[in-house]
Formats: sequence, structure tokens, C-alpha cells
Amino acid sequence: MNHPAPERPADVVARLRATFRTGRTKPVEWRTGQLRRLRALLTENGSDLEAALHADLGKSAAEAQRTEIGFTVREIDHTLDQLADWLRPEPAPVPAHLGADATAWTQYDPLGVVLVIAPWNYPAQLLLAPVVGALAAGNAVVAKPSELAPATSAALARLLPRYLDTDAVAVVEGGVPETTALLAERFDHIFYTGNGTVGRIVMRAAAEHLTPVTLELGGKSPAFVDRDADLDTVAARLVAGKFLNAGQTCVAPDYVLTDPETAAALEPALVRAVEAQYGTDPARSTEYARIVNERHFDRLTGLLDSGRVVVGGGSDRSRKYLAPTVLADVAPDAPVMREEIFGPILPIVTVPGLDEAIDFVNDRDKPLALYVFSESDGTRERFAAETSSGGLGHGLPLAHLTVSDLPFGGVGESGMGNYHGRYSIETFSHRKAVLKKPLG
Ligand code: NAD
Repeated sequence: MNHPAPERPADVVARLRATFRTGRTKPVEWRTGQLRRLRALLTENGSDLEAALHADLGKSAAEAQRTEIGFTVREIDHTLDQLADWLRPEPAPVPAHLGADATAWTQYDPLGVVLVIAPWNYPAQLLLAPVVGALAAGNAVVAKPSELAPATSAALARLLPRYLDTDAVAVVEGGVPETTALLAERFDHIFYTGNGTVGRIVMRAAAEHLTPVTLELGGKSPAFVDRDADLDTVAARLVAGKFLNAGQTCVAPDYVLTDPETAAALEPALVRAVEAQYGTDPARSTEYARIVNERHFDRLTGLLDSGRVVVGGGSDRSRKYLAPTVLADVAPDAPVMREEIFGPILPIVTVPGLDEAIDFVNDRDKPLALYVFSESDGTRERFAAETSSGGLGHGLPLAHLTVSDLPFGGVGESGMGNYHGRYSIETFSHRKAVLKKPLG
């Protein structure tokens, strides 16, 4: 079969820019229309997308719905519900020297043509949720899915043009060469989700055109467990948050930080929690995902001797299966503590107490998320006041990113800028200052 040659990146951007210049993407009706079409794509093609996510990452249908398809539908519904309100111009008080007849306000202007670059771990959600924001803000969008989730990338490249306005939304598939070519073009905003090394490449390319960037990066998100915490509850929530998508979640608790006595009591609680969640043989659980590829599988199994195996440790390269694994007696400088784990290995690192735990966090890069399991207001307040992280979760990992009215993003090495809900409108718009003074 003869496929037409893919459109060159420069032509894609020129075509979308021409559409933007006509003003077609600006009326709120166009925006809500596109969001409804995207919603229809997700609800009408749920089983195709579930199959693609299963092929790429072994995600169960339930998990695909909860963390990717349904997640994006909820983001769309929230946006449809609130958009008119978010877009309302905001009056600003006018100083007396301009006279009583002067008025001032801010209004949101769309930026133009936006590039969204997504990673492989939540390959549908992390492409589409930024696209929701970019469309809601009235932009044209180039969407670049991750080549490391090829089935999902292909499904989205096939479906998006069938549902959305192809003069304003384009999907460009591919890896480094294709993304490099895209990055040479001038965009009005680049929204990148992935690792910090590529984040730097993106930002350098953006600097050539003075294009603003949002960088949604990762890092090691700590989970502090206080000695007063109910350890069975803590273990169940840690296991649910850590081993979702086989640990390949940017806001997964990366490691546990606690004192030695609590660590000793937490170990058996974690063993019980893993068994309760995935059974005695997680390889047979349909709810447990697989590692994305052999390269990451080899990287992860290379980290297994960083400590004593409390539970898990088993693996099968041919199936890219790595058991939910907890490691104890892990030294702060062990290999597993030197980089973001991004897989189903949960090390427990001990510190004498709260002061040292706070120092431990502050001695390292600012994390994307920080989790605190404590019954003490004082402890919670100290973490809130004395540490910096993209988000802070008391008692429950991951969940803050499902609150549509909270901004989601990192700080420092974990990224810059944020999105979700109205924060996506802020990200993908220019807030224009307007002053009006009558001539008469
Ligand atoms: P990845 O390998 O899929 O890369 C992400 C994107 O960058 C892909 O679209 C890829 O094509 C592109 N890319 C790769 N190399 C490039 C290059 N040299 N030039 C231009 N583009 C290039 O995904 P990844 O980076 O392995 O993703 C995992 C990382 O992402 C982890 O660090 C994780 O914490 C982070 N992450 C962050 C969030 C968040 O919301 N903050 C969400 C998910 C993942």
C-alpha cells in the first residue's frame, strides 16, 4: 500500500498558524465543540484505547479507564462546565489619576500554535489532558505522542484527525529525529512532559524563538512515614500509589523515609499490603502492569541489589515483568537512591527523626510530589513550611493530581509551570492587560 509522505513539520505549523490567523479557534463555541468531539472520541473508542494501553504497558481495562480515558473525560467535563467562567475578563481597580471614567481589566488571549510533547507512561492522558487545556484556551495544537508507547501513539494518530478539526489539530508521530525537527519550528508555547535531560533540550530549542515552555518533569518523590501513623493504612496506600502502572508514574512515591523502629514495623505491613493488592503471585494478577521495554527492565533489575528484599524481587525479562518489590536497609547513596526509580521498587531509607527527614528532602532536588503520613499537625505543618515540592500529599499519594481545581506541576528539577482545569487556561493563554479611557 502506498502511504502519502508525512507532511513536513514546517508545513504542519504553517497550516495550523494560517487557521489560527483566521480566528476560527477563538470563539468559545469552537473550543467547546472540539472538547465535545474529543470526549466522543474517548467514549466511542474506549475499547481500542484500552487495547492499545494494554499492548504498550499491560494496563488492565479498569486501570486504563481510571487513569487515562476516564481521567481525560473528567478533565473535559470540568472544563466544559467552568470554561465560560474562567474566560470572563477580570476588572482591575483604576488609580484616581486616570479619572473616574477609565476602566481596566485583563482578558485571556489564545497564544497561537502550541506544541504538546508526551511521554510513554500515561501515553493517552499526558498527551490529551494538555490538549484539552490548549483547545479550551483557543489555540491550534500539534500533538506529539511518545514513540515508546507505539500502540497508543498509532491509535491517537488515527483517531484524533477523525474527531477534531484537522486544520487546527495535528498529530505528529515519531521519536528523536521527528521531535527535533518539530522543535526547530516556532511555536507560541511548548508543553513538554518527560525527563529533565530532554526538558533541557526542549528549553534550549524554545529559547531560539523566545517560546515559553511548560516542563512537567519527574524526580524522586519521598514518602515520610511518622512513628504515630497507622501502618496498615499507610502500607495499603503506599502500595496502591507505588505499584500502579508498575511504578511508572511520575508522582509515585519513589522511596520511604522513616525512623528505624517504624521501618521495622512497616516491613510486614507492606508485605501484607502487596499480597492484598496483587495476591501471592503478582505475575498472575491482571491488574498489574508491565515494564515499558527491555532497556527500562534491565535498568530496574540492576537496582535490585541496593538493599535487602522484603517482598518481591522476582522478574521475567521475556514478559517485562518485575514484581512489586520493597527493599530495606537501603543506604542513602545506594544506586536505587541516585536516580528516579520509575518502576516497581520501593526502597526504605531510615533517618533518626523528623529533623533529619526534612534535611534529607532539602539536601536533594525539589521533588514533583512529597507525601507525609502523620497524625501530627505539627509534623504536617513543618513539611509544608520547610520543604518545597510540586505538590504535597498528606496521607494519600497521587490523589492531588485528580483534584481538577489544583494546579499540577513541578518546581526546580521537577519542572516549571502547571496545568489542569483553570490552570491550563493560564498556561495556554496570554493574560492581556487592557485600559479604556473614553475620548469624549
Ligand atoms: P519519553 O522517552 O517518552 O520522552 C518524552 C518525550 O520526549 C517523547 O515524546 C519523546 O519522543 C521526546 N524525546 C525524547 N528524546 C528527545 C530528544 N532528544 N529531543 C526531543 N524530544 C525527545 O518519556 P521519558 O522522558 O522517559 O518519561 C519519563 C520521565 O517523565 C520521568 O522522569 C517521569 O517522572 C517524567 N514524567 C513526568 C510527568 C509529569 O507530569 N510531571 C508525567 C509523566 C512522566
